[in-house]
Amino acid sequence: MFLYNNAFIGMATLILNSGRCAWGKCIFCGYGKIYKKRTNKDLVAILDDFFANLKDDSVVKIFGSGSFFDEKQIPKEIFEYFIEKTKENKISEIYLESRPEFITKEKILCLKETNAKINIAIGLESASDKILKTINKGFKVKDFENVANLIRSLGCKVRVYLLVNLPLKNWKAELEKSVNFALNYADSIVLLNLLPHENSEIFDLWIKGEWNFLSKEEFFDITSKWNGNPKIELDVETFKFVPRFRAPKILDGVGEEFLTHPYFEVWQDYLQRWYKKQTGKDIVLFLPCSAKKPYSESETHKKILNILSDLDKEKYKSVHQVMISNPGVIPREFENFEPLNAYNWDEKLENEFIKKRYIEVTKERIKKYLLSQKYNKIFCFLKYTESYEALKLACEELNLNFKNLLRKETYKKMKKEGITSIVCEDALNDLRERIKEI
Ligand code: SF4
Repeated sequence: MFLYNNAFIGMATLILNSGRCAWGKCIFCGYGKIYKKRTNKDLVAILDDFFANLKDDSVVKIFGSGSFFDEKQIPKEIFEYFIEKTKENKISEIYLESRPEFITKEKILCLKETNAKINIAIGLESASDKILKTINKGFKVKDFENVANLIRSLGCKVRVYLLVNLPLKNWKAELEKSVNFALNYADSIVLLNLLPHENSEIFDLWIKGEWNFLSKEEFFDITSKWNGNPKIELDVETFKFVPRFRAPKILDGVGEEFLTHPYFEVWQDYLQRWYKKQTGKDIVLFLPCSAKKPYSESETHKKILNILSDLDKEKYKSVHQVMISNPGVIPREFENFEPLNAYNWDEKLENEFIKKRYIEVTKERIKKYLLSQKYNKIFCFLKYTESYEALKLACEELNLNFKNLLRKETYKKMKKEGITSIVCEDALNDLRERIKEI
């Protein structure tokens, strides 16, 4: 259960996952496939807990994966218990979600006993039957129309969700038609930015390069014509979006396939067009990868982290550690995510051609990443090999300065002595010394 309770404005949201969506087949939805076993006792406890801290006149929103009106998800006794709690707490307004087939006159009349304003939200997504079939929504526009008329005839409000950026060529024109249609049936419309849920078909389309998400800027640009319409709300991020793979692979090998693998490409796309570094991390320190994953558990990173920990606390917090490797750039906070936590690229198997490709591809990735994040200072601790070369070229093209905390002389000495490890004593001494410049 997740509870968001804004006591100040008297609004509370409960994420109540119970059972499984009766349909579960919409191509963009991963939630509908999740089964959460809840007994009536569990549900009573969750509702008791939720209502315990609400003040009178609160607005309550209950969200879940599926339908609040489906008795397999919310049994009749729990539905009635919810009504009792709503009355008892003098709730002024409620929002509930459901597929059309579960919404009945009988249930709406029960809800009306609460005396609260009732909003019933339906994920229509699009007002075209053809599109509903394409996205496997499992109902038709007419089903929505019938139930919307029923809700309104009983004095309740209809809320409609529409998806922005469906996987269709003409989605912009279709969106416009859907909004115009929904304005006739709904009291409020929410335009949702379609993002790839894990465990959904749309995520696979993203990996295959057949569909792509909209950045926040693109979403607001496209929906700007409806901004300011009192009936229309814009929701740019319906869940905390991070790529999560349902069938992760261990990508073990050297070559183009492992450099520009679709899994790595979508990660870089995410980092360049969606991700924003944590506020305050204004200094970037590019670091090498390590054979052992996650990186921070390798001997190399343990030694580097040990030296970085000498920085004073505030300074340490302002340093953003970002690895450069064949998947691209990998900010430290993603080192445990798949497949970034389980790939392998053996440098000994590299040939001249792949080294050149590595530099080309990595330079572009670094460039796009740096353009999307805006750091005040750029440092690295890298051997003077391909990753360094890629960073150097990226910074040159962007006209940015950067400094390597490993001195060139030290690297020359390492090469002369046949030392390949970047955490040899001389290199660590450089890091210890030069870190003071951060
Ligand atoms: S979008 Fe709604 S109806 Fe479709 S599978 Fe997900 S929860 Fe079920």
